[in-house]
Amino acid sequence: LLQADGIWKSFGDRSVLRGVSLDLSVHEVVAVIGASGSGKSTLLRCLNLLETIDDGVILLGGEDISDPRVDGNRVRARFGAVFQHYNLFPHLSVIDNVTLAARKVHRMPRRDADAKAMALLERIGLADKAREHPDRLSGGQQQRAAIVRAVVTDPEVLFLDEITSALDPELVGEVLELVQSLAEEGATILMATHEMAFARDVAHRVLFLDEGRVVEEGPPSEVLVAPREERTRRFLSRFT
Ligand code: ATP
Ligand code: MG
Repeated sequence: LLQADGIWKSFGDRSVLRGVSLDLSVHEVVAVIGASGSGKSTLLRCLNLLETIDDGVILLGGEDISDPRVDGNRVRARFGAVFQHYNLFPHLSVIDNVTLAARKVHRMPRRDADAKAMALLERIGLADKAREHPDRLSGGQQQRAAIVRAVVTDPEVLFLDEITSALDPELVGEVLELVQSLAEEGATILMATHEMAFARDVAHRVLFLDEGRVVEEGPPSEVLVAPREERTRRFLSRFT
């Protein structure tokens, strides 16, 4: 579904991605792990067309979306994304936040968008918060609302970038549970994460990024449990 081939990206003279390739199939969950600064967020931002790439090709369903003539907004409408911070607009109610893209970008009638959003909020126990503003929700509730906003438009790919790293530890579980249930329902997910146990349980494939290169990739049972590369072992030893 999403194929990246030989992606290079520099900021000034700092080379952040050095020939990264990856292939994400429909219904597949891929976790990108690696040290801070290894390029995980930059990779997700490049694939999401939030950054332009210096070299390489990105294909979505066979279409070259890295072609500069491609309309990034049109492509991003096929994606969902959740980041570490600031995912909700503070001046809008939860329900308006969740349905904004569905109504404005996907032109879904408000009634339909609201119904779909409410069903999802109901499912995660947030229906009673729909008319509240985000600051009345806990960090974990806000991130779950942000995930609902990202999936209400039925994205082909869901990008999750360290969505739990700003949360208090006791709120991490409820957010990961929601991601897990989306994964079980067949969502196609590319996530950057520091949650190794979660990557092990949910990801079909793990990709270890080191200084902008994919050093090792494979099923979690190999990469996280019995890594082949010394650099992967050194990175993972910090989590034990
Ligand atoms: P973390 O685990 O801390 O989130 P990361 O793996 O996501 O790290 P990136 O955010 O992709 O790492 O950053 C990789 C490198 O690129 C860092 O050195 C960072 O300073 C640099 N970088 C990222 N975005 C920019 C930017 N817009 N301008 C300049 N440098 C940037
Ligand atoms: Mg990052």
